[in-house]
Amino acid sequence: MSDSQTPAGGSLWRRIPLWQKILAGLALGVLTGALLGEDASLFKPLGDIFINAIKMLIVPLVFSTLVVGITAMRDPQKMGRIGARTILLYLLTTAFAIAIGLLASWVFQPGTGLDMSFDSAVEPKEAPGLTEIMVGLVPQNPIDALANGNILQIIVFAIGLGISLTLIGDKGEPVVRVFESFADAMVKLTNIVMAFAPIGVFGLIAHVAGSYGLEVLLPLAKVIGVAYLASALHVLVVYSGLLALLGRLNPLRYLQGILDALVVAYSSASSSGTLPVSLRCARNNLGVSEGVSGFVLPVGATINMDGTAIYQGVVAVFIAQLIGVDLSLADYGMIIVTGTLASIGTAGVPGAGLVMLSIVMSQIGLPLEAIAVIAGIDRILDMARTSVNVAGDLMVTTLVGKSEGELDESVYNARRTS
Ligand code: ASP
Repeated sequence: MSDSQTPAGGSLWRRIPLWQKILAGLALGVLTGALLGEDASLFKPLGDIFINAIKMLIVPLVFSTLVVGITAMRDPQKMGRIGARTILLYLLTTAFAIAIGLLASWVFQPGTGLDMSFDSAVEPKEAPGLTEIMVGLVPQNPIDALANGNILQIIVFAIGLGISLTLIGDKGEPVVRVFESFADAMVKLTNIVMAFAPIGVFGLIAHVAGSYGLEVLLPLAKVIGVAYLASALHVLVVYSGLLALLGRLNPLRYLQGILDALVVAYSSASSSGTLPVSLRCARNNLGVSEGVSGFVLPVGATINMDGTAIYQGVVAVFIAQLIGVDLSLADYGMIIVTGTLASIGTAGVPGAGLVMLSIVMSQIGLPLEAIAVIAGIDRILDMARTSVNVAGDLMVTTLVGKSEGELDESVYNARRTS
């Protein structure tokens, strides 16, 4: 369904492309928050309704499109290749991300010369073990996995079901057709929900902009600036570079194509919550096939968190500077390893990265209490890191799509009109 058919009202409204309306919602939200302060929370329910509506789509959309995508692929070897490329690219970009975060903090020294006290206690977290992760991938009960929204377990079951449906040939046809029709309906529902994105984004941003006064932000302006700068560099240099070098694709088209997902990620601070929007961007704007995007994006929304990795690097070095601890080369190495693991274990929900920061901090012997210093402004950092998390998933999806011949370049290169 095109946006012009969505039930969003008058004709002028219909003529403006959706991405422009979403950006306008964002700008209006910032303005409203700045003018009304705390009172702007009045508009938060608009944002909450929008986020609930997107979350409502995640499980049925991911499950049905993945089953359809796998039955369409009809090649288990190809699945294995896509899986291996996906994981490799996710790990590679995450290591880059954390290194950029470390470098940015090392160059700009956001914590040097700051005087801030902290006293609240924070419980340390444990990095997830590899065996634990592997065992947890297989659901004991797929209905339970669907009900709880356990994306990795849903993916495993959907792959199993998709392969089995292919193997039983004609007998599988009726079920495949049911899934095809269900998946189409979910894509349509995503488009309907997205027509309300400008209003939802407005409500979310008005609330955030109204709740953070300058008195909270200013003392930490430098670390916020460094985290945002490192995030922008990662997207503009690493992602664009990889797309151009490995994919021979124009990065500008990628940046235009992912805009809706970026704004929803920024305002919701949840990459899992943004998943239906990312899937829509991957197919409609980047031209990645259903099979590839239906697999690579949900995996990414669960395990690939480059923005979170950047944040771990920036904040760990910031806190070391704040308390006057000199980090050794081994400490930096340790941050890269534990930061990568911690980012994999971070759930795609608001604030999860802050909790996982304790893994990195305890590994290099920094006091966990220092996390309290940035807890007050974490939402502002979370918005940026979530946007990078989502941008990273979409970049890898594009590259994997291209490498498998599953990227429609006429769609990728087309000028965006909606
Ligand atoms: N909020 C982030 C996300 O959903 C995770 C984090 O807190 O780092 O991607």
